[in-house]
Order: sequence, then structure tokens, then C-alpha cells
Amino acid sequence: MSNFVWCHGPSCHTSHTQDRIRGVKGSKVLRTRKVKQDKWNTGQHMSMYSYFCSQRCYNDFANTYVQQVIAIAPRTEALETPIEVTKVQDTYWNNQTYMRTEIKTVDNNGG
Ligand SMILES: [Zn+2]
Repeated sequence: MSNFVWCHGPSCHTSHTQDRIRGVKGSKVLRTRKVKQDKWNTGQHMSMYSYFCSQRCYNDFANTYVQQVIAIAPRTEALETPIEVTKVQDTYWNNQTYMRTEIKTVDNNGG
């Protein structure tokens, strides 16, 4: 007996794949996939793949419930990361030189 949850994709049960077919001739259905709960997707490894059978089902869920998802942690102002920008001379494979922009994150907490 393994633990599982049903895939939370709102359209999981409509995808035409053989592994979703259940029932006997005359009364067959496409059924939502099970998502096995094991050491790779529980505890500290908890992720979207703990609740969704595929990237598609995750996207379907996120697109269907985007307003509710955003309400969990609304972004009302921009975040900023302090940086230092410097121009650095570099060389191509053919030894031709060029200037590139180097961006370094500044740690304001540790000095
Ligand atoms: Zn699914």
C-alpha cells in the first residue's frame, strides 16, 4: 500500500492517455492520475510534483486559480537587489577584445 494524492490538475481526467483509462467495455472513463507520495516529493522535498502529475497539470491549475494563488502573497511594490556594475575588458575566441558589463550583488548585511 503506497500513499498517494489525486493530481490537482483541473483537466487531468480529460487527457487522452492509456494510463488514465479505467472501467470495463461500455463504461470506460478517463480518470485523474494518482501522484505517489514518496521520499522524493514529501518532507523537505515537497514541491509542485507532490500534487501534480505533470507540468501541464500544474500550469492548468495555476492558470485556473491565478487570482487565488496571487492572493497568498501579493506583490504591491517592486523588490530591489543592491548591485555594483563594472565594465570589464574580455576577449573573444579569436583574441579580439570587447567590453562586457559585470553585475555583482552587493551584500549590505555582511559588509
Ligand atoms: Zn495530472
